[in-house]
Amino acid sequence: MTQTRTAIFPGSFDPPTNGHVDIVERALELFDTVIVGILSHPEKKALFTTKERVNLLEKSFKKYKGRVSVEEFSGLLAEFAKRKKSRVIIRGLRAITDFDYESQMALMNRRLSGGVETVFLVAREENSYISSSVVKQVAKLGGKVTAFVPKHVVNALRAKLSKRKG
Ligand code: ADP
Repeated sequence: MTQTRTAIFPGSFDPPTNGHVDIVERALELFDTVIVGILSHPEKKALFTTKERVNLLEKSFKKYKGRVSVEEFSGLLAEFAKRKKSRVIIRGLRAITDFDYESQMALMNRRLSGGVETVFLVAREENSYISSSVVKQVAKLGGKVTAFVPKHVVNALRAKLSKRKG
């Protein structure tokens, strides 16, 4: 019997960027299905609501229907992985500065889950300076973000920020 290999790609995705899309597409080369897990943080102030982020991510991965699903979760990632019967967490690494925190989290998640492994995919060079927070900063200051996020995210940012000003 062949088993479906599932990986979880967790994050805030506020908003999703081309870097996130690339990591999912590359994870699909290694796994049958990818669950994009949006951590819903009631205390953390996000620009987009969890529901809006679910919609933005679903749109980004529409063409992979059946292989990519988008789910929100709260609480421990290790528990979410167990619930989903996934043995693998995917994370992207942009710079060495990501590594410290990420390796600590990987060890903690393995310990808490009883064996879930974290697989790191190195960001593409052209995406390595893209982060959701920098994209938000640039967009808020009126800069162009079309090269950094999918088109529908550009539109969503525009709508969200004009509503805020208005
Ligand atoms: P978190 O708050 O959990 O870091 P993010 O939405 O910022 O959530 O990031 C989710 C995942 O995507 C992380 O593993 C992060 O390293 C990765 N990531 C973010 N931006 C990029 C990028 N430009 N290229 C590759 N991976 C990225």
